Amino acid sequence: QYQGLARRSTNEVLQLYSAHSQQQKLQRSSVVIQMYGAIKKRLKRDLKSLHSFALELSKDFQRQSKTYLYQVLTAVQGIQLQNEAMQMFQVKAFDLEQSLQELTERYEKEKQKRRALHNSLVELRGNIRVHCRIRPLLPFDTAAGHLVSPDRQRNFSEVACAADDETVLVKCSRPGHASVNKTFQFERVYSASESQDTVFADVAPLLTSLLDGYNVCIMAYGQTGSGKTYTMLGPQPEENLVFAIEDESELGIIPRATQEVFRLISEKPPGSYWVEVSVVEVYNNEVFDLLAKDSCGKVFGIKRDVVTSREGKSDVPLLTHETVENASEFLHLVNKGLQLRVTHTTLVHAHSSRSHLVVTLTITTVVSEDNFGTSWEDEQTSQRLHKEFSCTFPQKMRESKSTSSSRASSPAQLEATDKMKQVKTRLQLVDLAGSECVGMSGVTGAALRETSFINRSLSALADVLGAIAEQRSHVPYRNSKLTHLLQDSIGGDAKLLLMLCISPDQKYLTESMQSLGFGTRARQVQRGQVRKKNFPVLSKAK
Ligand code: ADP
Ligand code: MG
Repeated sequence: QYQGLARRSTNEVLQLYSAHSQQQKLQRSSVVIQMYGAIKKRLKRDLKSLHSFALELSKDFQRQSKTYLYQVLTAVQGIQLQNEAMQMFQVKAFDLEQSLQELTERYEKEKQKRRALHNSLVELRGNIRVHCRIRPLLPFDTAAGHLVSPDRQRNFSEVACAADDETVLVKCSRPGHASVNKTFQFERVYSASESQDTVFADVAPLLTSLLDGYNVCIMAYGQTGSGKTYTMLGPQPEENLVFAIEDESELGIIPRATQEVFRLISEKPPGSYWVEVSVVEVYNNEVFDLLAKDSCGKVFGIKRDVVTSREGKSDVPLLTHETVENASEFLHLVNKGLQLRVTHTTLVHAHSSRSHLVVTLTITTVVSEDNFGTSWEDEQTSQRLHKEFSCTFPQKMRESKSTSSSRASSPAQLEATDKMKQVKTRLQLVDLAGSECVGMSGVTGAALRETSFINRSLSALADVLGAIAEQRSHVPYRNSKLTHLLQDSIGGDAKLLLMLCISPDQKYLTESMQSLGFGTRARQVQRGQVRKKNFPVLSKAK
C-alpha cells in the first residue's frame, strides 16, 4: 500500500490517511462504546445495590430512631411523673412540717398549762418545789494521773444527766453487775449546759409572790463541790467569798433575786416598800450574825440565839437587819458579811461548805387597816397608801439609815397613824453545808466536831421534813439551830424551793443518790396551802 502510495499523489495519500484514521477512530469508539456500556451496566448495578442499601439503612435508622424516640418519650413521661410526685411530696412535706410546728406549739402550750396546773397543785397541797441542777464535769473531777480526753471522760464518768427538763437519769453500775438506770422526777431539772439565766427564770415568779405577800425560801442542797454556792451566789474566786460582779451572766440566785426584788419595788409607788437584810451563818450548831458590829462600828461576827416567839414563830433576837435601798448596797453588805465568814477567828473553817449560810431579805410595807386581809397589791390601795404615808414613814426611815436590831422594832412614826398595819414578808436564801456522808474514822478535833454538826443538822432537816410528811403532831424543829432558824419557811409559812445540786461524776454516785433521795422525799411533803402573809406586825396604835 505504501509503495503504491509512493506512486500516488499527496492528495490521495492524505485521503487515504484520513480514511485510515477515521477507520481507526471508528474502531476505537466502538470499543469505547462497548466499555462504556459495560461500565454503565456495572454502575447501574452498583447504584441499585447502593440504593437498596441506603433504603435499608434509612429504614433501620427510622426503626432505631423510633425506638429511641419512644425511649425518650417514656423517660420524659417518667420524669414528669417524678416531678409531679416530687411536687406532691414537697406539698406533703410542707403540710407535715406545718402540722409538726402546730403540734410542737400546742405541745409547748399544753406543757406550760400542765406545768402551771402542777404548780397550782403543788401550791394547794403545800408541797415543796424541788428543782435539780446537774453541774458540768469539771477538770477537778478527773483524779490526778487519770487524765482522759473529754469524750472518754464523758463516757466513763458521767453517770447523772438530765433525761429531759423534769427527769434525772442516773446510771448505777457496780463492778460485776449490769448497770441499772434509775430516774428521778422533779418540778424542773437543769442539764449541765443550762445557764444561771435559765435557772433564775424559774425562780423569778417566786419573787413576784414575795411582793404579793408570801414568804419565800430558796435552799440549795448537795455535797461539797456540787454547785450550791455557784447556783446561789455565782462563781467564787478562790475561797474568798465575794460576788464576781464583772460577769453579770454568771451571777447566782442571791444577787439576781435582789436585783429583781428592787426592780419589782421600783414599779410600786415610791416609798411603799422597804428592804432589810440579815446575813447569818450556822456553824457547829451556832448562829452567827455576820452583819453585827461592835461598839466601834467594826464588823464583828456575833453569836445569836434562835427562839420561838409567842406566836410560835422562830426569831433571832438582836439579829442585825440593815436597810438597803438598792441591789448594789445589798451586794456590798453581803460581801462584807461573807468575807468575815472566812476571816473571823471564831468562824475559821477550812471550807465555806462547812457551814450553812442564810441571807434574808425582809420586805416591809404598810397597809391600811380597812384593807387588812385583802391584797395590798391592789393598785388603788397602793396609791392611797403612798399618798397618805410614804412621805412620812419610809423616807424618814431611810434618812436615818437605821440598823434595826430586832425585826420587831419599828419606826415610831407609824404608831401615830391610826389605821396602819405594817406587813413583812421574807425571802430566805440558803446555801447549805455540804451533804456528803463523811465517815468519822480518822477525823479528829475540830474537823470531827464540824463534820458531826453538819451531819446532825442535815439529818435534823430530813427528820423535820419526814415529820411534816407523816403529819406528826410534833415536828422536831428544835433538834438543830438550822431547822429552828428555818422553821417558818420549812413548816409551811413559805413557798419553799429546794435546789438540789448534783455532781455528774461516777465517783460521787453515792452522794448524788443520797441527794436525789432527799429531794424525792422533800417533794412528797404536804404542808397544806401556803398562806399569804397578811397579819399585822404592829398591834393597832393607840
Ligand atoms: P459547793 O458550793 O456545792 O461546794 P461550788 O458552787 O463551790 O460547790 O462549785 C464547785 C466548783 O464547780 C466551782 O469551781 C464552781 O465554779 C463550779 N461549778 C459549779 N456549778 C457549775 C456550773 N453549773 N457551771 C460551771 N461551773 C460550775
Ligand atoms: Mg459552797
